[in-house]
Amino acid sequence: MREQTPIVISSAANPEIKALRALDSKKGRSEQNAFVSEGLRHVVEAVRKGWRVRRLVLSESAGSSPLLQEAADGCRRGGGRILTVTDELMTRIARRDNAQSVIAVIEQRWAGLDAVRAEPGTTWLALEGVRDPGNLGSIIRSADAFSVAGIMLIGHTVDPYSTEAVRASMGSIVNVPLVRIDEAAYLQWYTRWSGRIVGTHLKATGRPESVTRGAPTLLLMGNEQSGLTDRIAASCTDLVRIPMREGADSLNLAAATAIMLYAIAAPADA
Ligand code: SAM
Repeated sequence: MREQTPIVISSAANPEIKALRALDSKKGRSEQNAFVSEGLRHVVEAVRKGWRVRRLVLSESAGSSPLLQEAADGCRRGGGRILTVTDELMTRIARRDNAQSVIAVIEQRWAGLDAVRAEPGTTWLALEGVRDPGNLGSIIRSADAFSVAGIMLIGHTVDPYSTEAVRASMGSIVNVPLVRIDEAAYLQWYTRWSGRIVGTHLKATGRPESVTRGAPTLLLMGNEQSGLTDRIAASCTDLVRIPMREGADSLNLAAATAIMLYAIAAPADA
């Protein structure tokens, strides 16, 4: 699985490790068009879904197992390299004590607007200006659980490939297509979407249960601080609000998204 006599990297100054650590920043991730995924299970899931693993980084104590073999084979098949690092260096790379013993550098993927199609039974999710990586990762996780066709990120949003968002997605990042679009492009594009556009708004009077299940739907969620802008809200065919007790401020964005997806996209027969 590994090279016969693997060189164990112990120095953070090693060029491979420097390139890996550069992925901590958005600039580094976009320059390398890659992101870091931690944990053998998540790496194997990525390999199975055909994602290109450029580097598989194993700590000395990673051991061996059929899953590790599968990850290594997948990495090599895509032309990637396998590196072994000391446990101490792995902790430094992961910037936490209980670091995983396997991490991977995976090539980013972005879907084009042509992927966003209003097919029967399809739900797409659109997030306007989401700022919190933990929220975005949790939303990706919920979107995967409810078989959402993909997520459209509108305007200036946090990077879904940031380590925090990828961690919070619990591996779902490789199952949910992502599309980037700026506000002006969205405002031109939405007239071509033939399904419903359901916006969530604290001033809405509509209820989530009023949305017809099974019809092609684009669900729009707003920014954590300011909600949906008026311009984006005006693109909606329906505006709904999850009922809360009188006086409650609002729900956390990721929690509201999970409730909405349960209401409109949860499989009836699962
Ligand atoms: N002050 C903001 C406002 O007035 O819209 C609060 C934004 S809220 C924290 C962030 C997003 O979560 C909202 O744009 C909406 O998409 C969703 N959200 C939060 N509470 C909701 C509720 N009760 N019903 C529907 N969506 C909700």
